[in-house]
This record gives sequence, structure tokens and C-alpha cells, in this order.
Amino acid sequence: MKLEDFPKEIQPYLLPKIEGDIVYRCLKCHEEFDVERLLYTCPGCGSVLLLEDKTFERLGKLSGDAWRKVFDYRKMLNIPALKGIYLYHDVVGPTLPLDSIVYLGEGNTPVVEANATLQKKIGRRFYFKNDGQNPSASFKDRGMASALSYINHLIRTGAVSEILAVCASTGDTSASAALYASYLQPRIKSAVLLPHKKVTPQQLAQPLGSGAMVFELPGVFDDCMKVVEALSEDYNVALLNSKNAWRILGQESYSYEIAQQFDYNMDNKTVVVPIGNAGNITAIISGFLKFFKTGIINTLPKIIGVQSVHADPVYRYYLEPEPEKRVFKPITVRPSVAQAAMIGNPVSMPRVIDLVEKYNERGKEQKVFFVEVTEQSIMDWQLRANRNGHIVCTQGGETLAGLVEAINSGLVEGDEEVILDSTAHSLKFSGFQEMYFEDMFPEAFEIRPKRELQNIPRFVRPDALKEAPELGKQLAPEQFEEFVRLTTEEIASILTLKKKKKA
Ligand SMILES: *Cc1c(COP(=O)(O)O)cnc(C)c1O
Ligand SMILES: [Zn+2]
Repeated sequence: MKLEDFPKEIQPYLLPKIEGDIVYRCLKCHEEFDVERLLYTCPGCGSVLLLEDKTFERLGKLSGDAWRKVFDYRKMLNIPALKGIYLYHDVVGPTLPLDSIVYLGEGNTPVVEANATLQKKIGRRFYFKNDGQNPSASFKDRGMASALSYINHLIRTGAVSEILAVCASTGDTSASAALYASYLQPRIKSAVLLPHKKVTPQQLAQPLGSGAMVFELPGVFDDCMKVVEALSEDYNVALLNSKNAWRILGQESYSYEIAQQFDYNMDNKTVVVPIGNAGNITAIISGFLKFFKTGIINTLPKIIGVQSVHADPVYRYYLEPEPEKRVFKPITVRPSVAQAAMIGNPVSMPRVIDLVEKYNERGKEQKVFFVEVTEQSIMDWQLRANRNGHIVCTQGGETLAGLVEAINSGLVEGDEEVILDSTAHSLKFSGFQEMYFEDMFPEAFEIRPKRELQNIPRFVRPDALKEAPELGKQLAPEQFEEFVRLTTEEIASILTLKKKKKA
């Protein structure tokens, strides 16, 4: 739809204005820093930063109801820069001009209601929000679009010239970073650090295909992260991990989309999210808080963070009910099928602690909860979901296992509707499915396949068949006819099909 065709009162707000005053804010000493330079930790105290719009109050110029209309109408505009996370430009990056925005088709991911069989089994109405339908097949594209649009802006304004973007990754961050960086080459190049043999073949193929420099290091993600941090301390590189506050800002779009997809009614809603480096849950909490403060939503949804028993430092922290007594202890992770969340020392922990407190305060009751789940339940629920028409990854399976756990612990009432964050596409993690189907999990995963969830291909070559087709070989007509007939009979017999009556 064209601008002049929209209602008169909406027109002035449809195309976002360049406004706002964004600064880095230190979570610990509350010092603020200019965003004209790349900054990841507070130069004063070393703590993590978040971006803050010092003019956030300006959003009060419109009522919550008017903002809802702006976002809903804006969806009808055919301007690529506003089709993804910058549909919410006014909150996601109001200082960025539209021509700096990098849009590769991220965001606006579907909410898919769980099928009837699955809902019946779980006993709640619930949905998957399929963030695996992003361009690099994980939610990381939301934050990467934000970080790279900002860097693109710095380049366009001459604040920086050439950029080497680096990140450590459990797989998806590097896939996303390499994709967005390659779109902006030659001025941006990327290098990614991965824990050797701890990302899936698909995830390794992604940055390689995008032309990034790929380094594999011994150890786990936490070790790679330390090296990347040292690189960004001592050298002129742009850090693309979620330590980069622009990543968080972009990932907040996930919450805005949920709000919009449910017509801004967050009553009785619960959002379940897997936790690794804790950037995603930080962004989701922060996003809902911003929409709540502007009156765009009138209720804060409940949020449930899920961790595997093999990588559960956040869950352990919140086991202590009294806030003053809580102490954060990094843990040593064990192998997990939720590999993207296999992190023992989450970088965003200080952000989580800060925001969970604010969220509960604003919500006037406890609104954020944490549960942990076994590796077995993650795999079982992932496979069950996908047998019911879904495309969830292992982390998506973790959220479904988390929902079951939350229901059992009395955290989710019968009338609540639940949105599960399926953070990546199932295809990225098909290796774990294969290990399950072929009963090949190493001991350390503690996963035993359930027969009814296993599935393997059957090779069909009837014993009576004399000649079988081969690539590059032509069968004689009667041989080919025999191949079709015998093979059809064998498949029909396996499937116990009854022959049609010929008229
Ligand atoms: C990165 C990632 C996570 C974990 O998100 P954090 O922001 O690190 O907590 C979960 N699932 C997938 C598929 C991921 O790529
Ligand atoms: Zn500080």
C-alpha cells in the first residue's frame, strides 16, 4: 500500500523519523558512553553495557493505541528496510537512517499453533514462534541485522572505514555474522572462532559458504569467547557476540512481534525461552518492558527461561530464593544436544539479574521463572514436536520440555497460552536426530532412544530382482518393468496395502 492511501492521522508516523539519543549505559557504575565508537564493556568498571535511548519518553507523544495502529499499518508498507526488525524502528534503532539498514529477510517470523495432538498431550494451548525461519535459520539474525546496520551506518558516515567483525560461536552466531558481513563486503570482513567439533556440520558450512575466516579452537564455547574478548581488547576488531549491546537491541524485536501477533493482548500469556549466553532472554525481557512502559501492551507476559541439566548456571543462580543470598558461579558444561545453549559462563548474566528484578517489580509479582530439563526430555520432545508438523531445533525441544516441567511444577495455569521460542531450524541439528534414530549417542549425553520415536530409511531391493537401475545405465524395457513391478509389490507388502478392485 502507498503512503497516501493510509488514514490521514497515521501518515505522519508511518515513515519513522530519525530521532532519539542512544548511549551505552554501564549496568554497574551507570556511566554513559557515546555510541560513535565501538564499545563492548565499560571502560571505567569493565561491566557489560546496554543501549539506552535517553529520549525514550518521547514515545509518549502517541498513546499505546496509536502506536499499535502505526505498527499495524506500517506492516502494509512495501519498504524493505521496514519489513524486518525495523518495523519497530522507533524502539529498535531510531537514530538509524533507513538507507543504512541491512535487511536480509530477518524477523516477522511465524507463530504456528501446536497441532491438536500435541496440545492435547501437553494440556495447554501453545504455539511455536519459528525463529528458525530467519535467513541464516536462527534468531541470531535479529541482533545481527541490528549490529551490522549500525556498523554500516558508521561506515557510511565515515566514522570507520574498514571493519573486521569477529565472534565466538556455538554455531549460529557465526553463521549469522558471516552472512551479514558478506552482504556488506568488501568493507566488512568476518572471522569466526568455533569450538572444534562442537558445532554441527550445517553450522560449520554456513560461515565457510559465506567466505568468512573460520578458526576452530580446542575446548568449548566459553574458551573461544575468552580469546575473542582478548582480541577485541587488544586489536581493532568489531565484536559481534551478544556482549555487543546492538545485538540485544535488535533481538528485542522478538517480543514486539509476539505482542503484535497476539493483537497486543498479553493477558495470560507465557513465553518460554532457552538460555545459553543469556542474550536472548535479556532482549525478550527488555523488549516487553519497553512496550509495557509505552502502553503498547498492558500486561507483562510471564517468562520462563529453560536450561539443560548439563549447562545450567542461570537456573542454579535462581535456585536461591532470597535475592541477597544469590551468588553467580560459572559451571563446567557437559555435552548437550541443546548445543547452541551449552554455555557455563553466560556473558549477559549481569543483564539478566538487572532486568529480571525490574520485570518482576513492574509486573508487581514474580513474572520470570527458570526451569531445568534433562537431555533425554529435550530430544524426546523435539522429536515429538516434529512428528506433529513442526520444525523445531533441539533448543526448541528444550522449550517444550521446559513447558512440561513448568506445568508439573505448577508454574503454568490451565488458562494460560504459551509461546515457545523455537530458536533455530531443525535441519541445523539433524545430526542429533540421526544419533537418536541410530542409537549412537555417546554415554555422556545420557540419552536412550525411545523406539516409538525412532525412524530409519529402509532399503528396498527385492530378492527376486535380477537387474536393478543404476546411474548411467539403461535397463532393457522388460527388466525395467520387472523392477517396477517387484519393487511396488514389496513396498505394498511392507505397508500392508490392499489391492484396488479393477472395474
Ligand atoms: C544462541 C542460541 C541460543 C541461546 O541464546 P542466548 O542468547 O545465547 O541465550 C539458543 N538456541 C539457538 C538455536 C541459538 O542459536
Ligand atoms: Zn561501569
